[in-house]
Amino acid sequence: MALFSCGCCPSRRGFLASGLAAATALAAPRVHAQAAKPAVKRIDMHHHFLPPEYMKAEHERLSGYTHGGVSANQLLSWDASKSIEVMDANNIAVAIVSQTTPGVWFGDVAGGRHAARIWNDYAAEQIKKYPARYGLFAPIPLPDTEGSLKEIEYALDTLKADGIGIVSTYDGKYLGDASFAPVFAELNRRKAIVYVHPTVAACCGSVLPGVIPQAIEFPFDTTRTIASLIINGALMKYPDIRFIFSHGGGVTPMLAGRMAETLGHRPNSAEVTPNGVGAELRKLYYDTASATAPGAMAALRVMAGSGRILFGTDYPFVKAAAEIKELEETRFSDSEREAIDRGNALALLPRLRA
Ligand SMILES: [Zn+2]
Repeated sequence: MALFSCGCCPSRRGFLASGLAAATALAAPRVHAQAAKPAVKRIDMHHHFLPPEYMKAEHERLSGYTHGGVSANQLLSWDASKSIEVMDANNIAVAIVSQTTPGVWFGDVAGGRHAARIWNDYAAEQIKKYPARYGLFAPIPLPDTEGSLKEIEYALDTLKADGIGIVSTYDGKYLGDASFAPVFAELNRRKAIVYVHPTVAACCGSVLPGVIPQAIEFPFDTTRTIASLIINGALMKYPDIRFIFSHGGGVTPMLAGRMAETLGHRPNSAEVTPNGVGAELRKLYYDTASATAPGAMAALRVMAGSGRILFGTDYPFVKAAAEIKELEETRFSDSEREAIDRGNALALLPRLRA
C-alpha cells in the first residue's frame, strides 16, 4: 500500500471523522467572550521557575545565557514573587512549575544530579512559601538512569511532586529509545504524570542560520519525540503514564493525518498502534502555550479533543494575557472552556480540588 494514499485508508478516514464535529465548531467565526460571565480560575500547566543558583550556573556555562525575548538580567533577577504577580493579573489560581530547556543534563553525571536536586529543592521551598499557588513537575537527570530513578523517588516520595518534567531529547536520543526503558517502567509503575518540554537536538539548532530554535525547531523536536514513543511501542508498554506535551504537541496536530498514514504502516504497527496512530495521539495531553492561534487550536482540538487540552502560559517567556485573549476569542462551549482552563487539570491532579 502506498504510504501517501488517497485518503481511502480506513484508519485515516476514522481519524478524520473523529474530529469532524470539533472542526465544524471551530470553523465558525471567532467571537468575543461574554464579559458578564465570571471567569473560571485557571490552572497553568506550563509555567517555569528559574531557580537563582541554577540560572547563575547556566549563565556561566553558556557565557551569557538568554532565552527567547528574556534578557540575561531578567533571567538572573527572577524570583517567585514575579510569577505570582503574573498569575494574579491573569486569573491563574495555581501553576504547576517545570524546567525549561536545556534542562538539567549537560553531559556529566554529577553535574546533572546536582542541577536536578538544587532545582527541585528550590521549587519545594517556594511551594511552601506560597501555599496553594504551585505544584511541581520535577526535573530528573536523564539520560543518567540511576540518578533519574533516585530523583524520581526523592521528588515523588519526599517532595510530593505532582509529576516529573523531562525534555524532548537527550544526547540525540528521543524518548522512545530503549535506553530510557528503566525510567519509564518506574514512572509507569507509579502511574506518574510526565510533562515533556521541548529542547533542541545537537543536530538541529542552526539548520536555518539566524532563526532561533523556538521558532521552528522546538515544535518539531516535540513531534519527533511523540513519533519516537509511538513507533517504539512506549505508549503501549507504559499505558499508566499520563504524558503531557508542551505547545499543543508542536506540529503534531498539523501532521496527524500524515503520521497516521506513514507510522501506521510500519512493520510493527499491529503491535505498537493496534488501534491506529490517531488513537495513540488521543491518549496524550497537550498544553495551550503558543498554540492559541486559531489555526493551531483548531488542529489541536480536532486531533486531541477538548478533554485533552490543558491551559498553559509558558511564563515567563510568553505573554500570558495575549494567549488568554486568543483563547477567549476562540469559540468553545462553556463546558469546553471550563475543561481547558481548569477541569482537565483537576482530573489529572485531584489534590487541587481541595
Ligand atoms: Zn516552556
